[in-house]
Amino acid sequence: MDNINLFEKAINSSENIVIFSHVNPDGDTLGSMIGLAKIIELNYNKKPTTVIIGKTPDTYAFLNSIDQCTSSINLDKEVCYDLAIAVDIAAKDRMVDMQDVYFNAKNTVNIDHHITNNGYGNINIIDGNASSTGEVLFDIVKKLNWKINKEIAELLYVAILTDTGGFRFENTSARVFNFASELTANGANPTNIYRKCYESKPKAMALLNAYAIQNAIFKENDKIAYTIITKEDMKNFNAKSDYTEGISEALRQINSTEVSMLLKEAENQTTKVSLRSKTINVAKIAESFGGGGHHYAAGCTIQKPPTIAIEKLLELVKKSLNE
Ligand code: AMP
Ligand code: MN
Ligand code: MN
Repeated sequence: MDNINLFEKAINSSENIVIFSHVNPDGDTLGSMIGLAKIIELNYNKKPTTVIIGKTPDTYAFLNSIDQCTSSINLDKEVCYDLAIAVDIAAKDRMVDMQDVYFNAKNTVNIDHHITNNGYGNINIIDGNASSTGEVLFDIVKKLNWKINKEIAELLYVAILTDTGGFRFENTSARVFNFASELTANGANPTNIYRKCYESKPKAMALLNAYAIQNAIFKENDKIAYTIITKEDMKNFNAKSDYTEGISEALRQINSTEVSMLLKEAENQTTKVSLRSKTINVAKIAESFGGGGHHYAAGCTIQKPPTIAIEKLLELVKKSLNE
């Protein structure tokens, strides 16, 4: 039996199901998580618990049924689930306080599209060629002939739209357009969803973005562009943690940029790094700091403050550019 059929069998034989998204959630992990919960509800008449690690990001508060998700902070972690499903979670440390819940479950599923995913679940459905976990999920929908409705179509559309950067990144394939077309035919409205994802930024987010670009530093004939955001900056702009989304991509938009980085000061002298590239494999660089991701988009957390973290990063990026 292949993994997709094993997944269906696991849903059929489980009553108590939990699905969760990764820390610092994005459109793909949230759309896929809620979308999958709605699929299971519609096709199997079971209602999985959906869990967001930490707080719901402002930018995705518009998602259908997101108000029905539980924060990991409030979840009863003593419950032993029949089935735990991780969506878009590249590595188990991205589950943070949900790791025990996941690994204590009777059965575990791992649905993802990160090339660095090591297959930590009992059943692993990982497609490194897929643009998004939303795409992996819609492929399963088609293979298992699952029913979908407008709500599910919208959620999967958000997942695919946001992980392809609005159908622009190199992961935008013919299959992506085929799936987007089918989801549109099932009720997802491209204009409405586009406006909610890209034309509904909080003012503070737009201003923080502009400030971060204004303060960018360029190295190696402008091939490397990076910017640092401190905790103080976040406070000054009254910014929530998700307001830094898109900054690294904005630096990659410059014609000279080959690699862009956002270094965000985090708790306890650590730095959260977002790497984007047009050429070199940044997943490899992120992996050397215990992170991961994709060839052109990756992330990691470095156990040093930004001004020190950047030195090590620059060294590895320069080396990779010169290879
Ligand atoms: P971000 O820069 O946070 O938008 O992440 C870029 C890509 O790298 C996304 O696909 C993330 O899922 C992945 N990623 C970010 N941080 C990590 C990490 N610590 N470990 C593994 N993958 C990560
Ligand atoms: Mn993600
Ligand atoms: Mn993803």
